Amino acid sequence: MSKPLFADVILPLPLRDKFTYLVPASFEPNMKLGVRVIVQFGARKYFSALVYRLHQEPPSGDFDLKSIDAILDKEPIVNQAQIIAWEWVADYYCCSLGEVFKAALPSALKLESQSNVSFNPHFNMEEELTGEEEALLLMLQGRGQANIKEINQFLGRKSSYATLKVLLEKNAILIEERLKDSYKPKTIGVVKLSDQFSTPKAIENIFEGIGRAKKQRELLEYFLAETVFSEESQNSLTKKELLEQTGISDAVLKVVVDKGILTIEEVEIGRLIQNHTEEQFLYELNEAQEKALVQVKEGFQTKRPVLLHGVTSSGKTEVYIKLIEEVLAQNKQVLYLVPEIGLTSQLNNRLKRAFGDRAGIYHSKFNDAERVEIWFNILEEKEDAYQVVLGARSAVFLPFKKLGLIIVDEEHENSYKQFDPAPRYHARDMAVVLGQIHKAPVLLGTATPSFESYFNAKLKKYALVELKERFQGIELPEIVVADIRKATRQRQMKSLLTPELYDEVKQALEKEEQVILFQNRRGFAPYMQCTSCGWIPKCQNCDVSLTYHKYRSSLVCHYCGHTTSLPDTCGECHSDDIRTKGYGTEQIEEELGILFPEARVARMDLDTTRAKRSFDQLIYKFETKQIDILVGTQMVTKGLDFEHVRVVGILNADQMLNYPDFRSFERSFQLMAQVSGRAGRKNKRGKVVIQTSQPTHEVLAEVASNSFDLLFNRQMLERKLFRYPPYFRLVKIVVKHKSRERLDLGANQLAAILRKLFVNQVLGPEYPVISRVQTWYQKEIWLKLDKNKQLSPAKKQLMDVIGQIKGLPNNGGLIIYADVDPM
Ligand code: ADP
Ligand code: ZN
Ligand code: ZN
Repeated sequence: MSKPLFADVILPLPLRDKFTYLVPASFEPNMKLGVRVIVQFGARKYFSALVYRLHQEPPSGDFDLKSIDAILDKEPIVNQAQIIAWEWVADYYCCSLGEVFKAALPSALKLESQSNVSFNPHFNMEEELTGEEEALLLMLQGRGQANIKEINQFLGRKSSYATLKVLLEKNAILIEERLKDSYKPKTIGVVKLSDQFSTPKAIENIFEGIGRAKKQRELLEYFLAETVFSEESQNSLTKKELLEQTGISDAVLKVVVDKGILTIEEVEIGRLIQNHTEEQFLYELNEAQEKALVQVKEGFQTKRPVLLHGVTSSGKTEVYIKLIEEVLAQNKQVLYLVPEIGLTSQLNNRLKRAFGDRAGIYHSKFNDAERVEIWFNILEEKEDAYQVVLGARSAVFLPFKKLGLIIVDEEHENSYKQFDPAPRYHARDMAVVLGQIHKAPVLLGTATPSFESYFNAKLKKYALVELKERFQGIELPEIVVADIRKATRQRQMKSLLTPELYDEVKQALEKEEQVILFQNRRGFAPYMQCTSCGWIPKCQNCDVSLTYHKYRSSLVCHYCGHTTSLPDTCGECHSDDIRTKGYGTEQIEEELGILFPEARVARMDLDTTRAKRSFDQLIYKFETKQIDILVGTQMVTKGLDFEHVRVVGILNADQMLNYPDFRSFERSFQLMAQVSGRAGRKNKRGKVVIQTSQPTHEVLAEVASNSFDLLFNRQMLERKLFRYPPYFRLVKIVVKHKSRERLDLGANQLAAILRKLFVNQVLGPEYPVISRVQTWYQKEIWLKLDKNKQLSPAKKQLMDVIGQIKGLPNNGGLIIYADVDPM
């Protein structure tokens, strides 16, 4: 008899180790690395785990070794390159492989409750069965199949794996081996114009058939605006979207269909993606772009990541597109990362223009079926797999096999960093690692580099390429700093606008040019306050003031969502004079309506873009000049490309500049330069007005003169002196508890041990700016690690200490985690 085989598996749990299971002899032929198996863990819990290593070394220790219960896949669902990347993530970001596994896989591939169980037709029901087993088998026979959730319900239990395991051993049931096989091609209703309206001429008369029917007209108007009259000029809409977005009933649609104006067709979802028939073409690069392209390629030759520092609207995207074209010609894959899902649709249109259906989007908002489909298309290199994947950070986890290029656009954006839950990874840094694993070049692009990347470029770890002029040679916008205090003193403020900004907006509107106004606070007012005693309404779950939202006429916590009605009287002194303080986007929108009643004003923030596609619709309306002034939070700053914006106003720079964080100047510069970059991108030079009560602030001068280097050099001296990144590595250790006392105790214990190990590299524990969130009190301990020393052992020590502290009897209910390179 040959030696038994063991499998080390990754469980989707925050446990540090891999776990070893025995592979039953009957499973051996089908056992492979990277397939999922069902294993028991703990007394009665079952999980789908991933096979990580196969070997013949019996695990030491005399614990009770369990066997694998079932194999779920015929072929691996991940590849070796992914596993290597996961190991790096777990190691670098101080988390378990299980947590990476959990984050990496689309949830349909993790949820064992989705697995389908069916009756094995070769099973003989005469065999000895318990009543429950028999009942279950009869049910399965009757229905054909059921998923684990349904079986749990049927048996009236939380988990039915124990029963299933017995039935598996008896060979009475089959567990579907690949989940995706259970995805039948779904169809959806797609609405199109009927053939008689296939020409623009015919469409002119389309409303004749509608007469005075208001709802029918509304429906048709929406349909036309989103299809033939939309920029993408697509020819269809899904029925679901049409009805949802208009709020009009199915019955009305049916009438319009019966009148022969619209038609409804059932279409397979998979095929939907491919209705782009436009001709593919690439722009010619101009001289500066051409030169940058050559330099980028030279940089790639040196095997280093390349940082493309190109001013806003210099045409970085066009340079990327040329590079992508060359990579596709070699039949390799491209990963194109953007910091925000919202950015994908504008870019996707540009990529589709160049590469048609070879380019596509992947991100976490897609539904499971779509994500699993894209996953397997890429894994198995299917014909309709995207070769260019445009995605937000989670796309780094896709099963690429032959990456030929990784682009990280707007590399400075901190939304590349995952805050919660683990793995708290930075997708830009992971992209650099992926590049090493795949031996693929990595391109980081931005108009305002992160200090980390710029520093790496200065150290020649990255190659630096600069693109200093805007496409068409349009000058960067003129930047004016406007003094809020002075204007207030001289009573010249027009509501929230300084005279400088007011005049610019007015002129722009007169010339039918567009305006973007930026304020990084949503809601009407950031807080309310009692004028007699100073009381401020706060969230009951968090240590923050509640934001006033006028249109919902309520107070909302931006940290936990807690909502209350407006207080009639003060919670302390019962005075009824409670006023709003400060202003958010909602108030600006309202004030603009009074200042410029003829202007069409729209707002873009979390509140107005929650609905699916609402972000895209706002952008589309702005692009097509159906909006004159767009008021927004940082959503408006990122990489968007608008043609007709001439004026950009930053309503209050003070909040960013005064934010207590060592990165606040870097951030302020990035934010202001980026939002300014939205002005005057085409045709004509733009103008930016920055409102502030600190008009002589150095950072403002640096923004105004676009002196990134000046700011960088100045700040780097401070970073070095105070031991901050990029000179030192920060690890933030967050400790949370529902009880303040228990938190203090645990945090102090932890800090004491860390001080012994890391001596003067430890700061804290301290309360962060917000000391309580969602009923959890929190404190932070900071480690400043020397970059030139080995980080791995230090992190391992740290994780050991955290484990030790968590295990102490008085520390039940304590949460501790490490955040490496926190943002
Ligand atoms: P960036 O990414 O550097 O901000 P973009 O790539 O968005 O700049 O370019 C700004 C605008 O100029 C876009 O609308 C783009 O289509 C246009 N553009 C840039 N380069 C070219 C080119 N070589 N030919 C035609 N249009 C270009
Ligand atoms: Zn009061
Ligand atoms: Zn709250």
